[in-house]
Amino acid sequence: MVRVIMLSPPGAGKGTHSRWLTRQTGAAHISSGDLLRAEVASGSELGQQVAAYTARGDLVPDDLIFSILAPAVVAAARDTGGYVLDGFPRTMPQALRSAQFGAELRLTSNAVVYLTAPEEELVDRLLDRAQRDGRDDDTLEVIRHRLAVFTRQTAPLVEYYRGRGILIELSTDRPEAEVQADLLNQLQARGLVDPGTGEPIARPRRASENGAAENR
Ligand code: AMP
Repeated sequence: MVRVIMLSPPGAGKGTHSRWLTRQTGAAHISSGDLLRAEVASGSELGQQVAAYTARGDLVPDDLIFSILAPAVVAAARDTGGYVLDGFPRTMPQALRSAQFGAELRLTSNAVVYLTAPEEELVDRLLDRAQRDGRDDDTLEVIRHRLAVFTRQTAPLVEYYRGRGILIELSTDRPEAEVQADLLNQLQARGLVDPGTGEPIARPRRASENGAAENR
């Protein structure tokens, strides 16, 4: 089953590609940005703390994102057997902590999809999205800041995951259908989805798995 991390600068298409991938595989789609926006919209005290970071385009502190996300990942992976993590991890401490957590729970990620596009294309896409969705962090100034935050805090994860041999790097500066076909091929080549149907590969569970989600 797919346990995938979508890693990309803002505007490279991680939301778009997470959505069809979860439809196709039945894995849970967990978007850190959506969870944070829901918390902000709820008007809770935690939401107000979160908004102070997201409105500026800064990352929320690692402890905070971990406490919001970890229970969602565990529950979703137990229910569906897999996950597509859209927007998490985004810093080295998040990556190291989630690798340790994943190993303990037998929920280790089996692929990291790194989506790329030229910077000016990213800016254009986000400004288009601003007109459609009205996100308050899609202004030109905040977009530029989010791109700089990606370069400084998130880009180091690319080499970390490349070193672990699970990185799939794809340009999204081409038609969406081409990116989809390419990603599916690469997941098939790694034995994560079935080559014939595009469905996830289900392996029989071992008795020792004792309720763990691995390989369901
Ligand atoms: P996104 O929807 O993925 O573009 O995320 C929107 C905003 O949520 C980001 O600019 C950050 O402020 C915050 N955010 C999302 N994911 C994370 C994360 N893993 N760590 C810290 N902040 C995050």
